[in-house]
Amino acid sequence: MSFEYHEPAAVAEAVALGARFGEAGRFLAGGTDLIIQMRRGKVAPRHVLSLHRVPGLDRIEANGAITLGALVTHRAVERCADFQGPLGALVEGARVVGGHQIRNVATVGGNVVNASPAADVVPVLLTLDATVTCLGPDGERTLPLEGFLTGPGQTARRPGELLTAIRFERLPPASATAFLKAGRRRAMEISVVCVAARLTLDPARERCLAARITLGAVAPTTMRARAAERALEGRPLTDDVLREAGRLAAGECRPISDVRASARYRRLLVETLVPRALRRCRERIGGGA
Ligand SMILES: Cc1cc2nc3c(=O)[nH]c(=O)nc-3n(C[C@H](O)[C@H](O)[C@H](O)COP(=O)(O)OP(=O)(O)OC[C@H]3O[C@@H](n4cnc5c(N)ncnc54)[C@H](O)[C@@H]3O)c2cc1C
Repeated sequence: MSFEYHEPAAVAEAVALGARFGEAGRFLAGGTDLIIQMRRGKVAPRHVLSLHRVPGLDRIEANGAITLGALVTHRAVERCADFQGPLGALVEGARVVGGHQIRNVATVGGNVVNASPAADVVPVLLTLDATVTCLGPDGERTLPLEGFLTGPGQTARRPGELLTAIRFERLPPASATAFLKAGRRRAMEISVVCVAARLTLDPARERCLAARITLGAVAPTTMRARAAERALEGRPLTDDVLREAGRLAAGECRPISDVRASARYRRLLVETLVPRALRRCRERIGGGA
């Protein structure tokens, strides 16, 4: 493993180095994906661009919309007071990433750019209709997170572009989120399946106004279960309706069999976890049918 190590001290310098090295360079945030991939020979960048000395990208801004700087760690998300209420799925997702040591250094931006279909925070961000902002030599561009994720380990990021921030709106009243993960053990484990959900009910808390259901580890990218979402919108959320959403989500996901689980088992997990996550949202809002 031979590479040149760079430590830009400002965003502009990081972007300039990114542009100069293009495909031959990789940004290093927490390194919990990158270093392992380099050790295993999966990637072999000739230039590693550390972001440790770049200021300003590790902030959570929660005035109106929420902005997560790309270098915000999972630990910082876990501890953020703004995420204890309706946005609680962010805490639930962040606190199951690896162990304490991993969460203290691993970043949300790294989780997004690494684009693992089994990433735990990405599904939560998708339920929030998050956007990502990338900065390159030609300026800044903002894309929906869903469109940013193009395949396993692949994104719409251009070579050398720096991910600077992830943004989403605060939720309307009568909204809640939930995240559930099934792994083969309880800690330090990549998801066999993970599910994130968001519900918004009408002011009387009787019908569903908006639903988001996202699934991890059951398709080439984290995916939205749109048929399941449609089955909820406009309806009272009885247990039967939630179970129907689970069946639809299991039908629309595209799992594979691998060392962790069979495709059939993954579908069964989706069918079980989706209604469970939706029930959690319903309870958190405090109402519903
Ligand atoms: C033991 C262990 C357990 C783990 N468990 C989990 C788990 O349970 N759930 C889970 O989701 N993940 C898990 N992971 C994976 C990893 O910790 C997360 O994906 C983490 O969020 C990656 O963040 P990072 O800052 O370490 O990224 P890095 O490794 O630094 O970078 C990852 C990729 O993103 C690129 N990158 C990083 N930041 C930027 C940026 N700002 N702009 C452009 N490109 C960038 C890098 O070049 C690299 O390609 C685990 C990893 C380990 C080692």
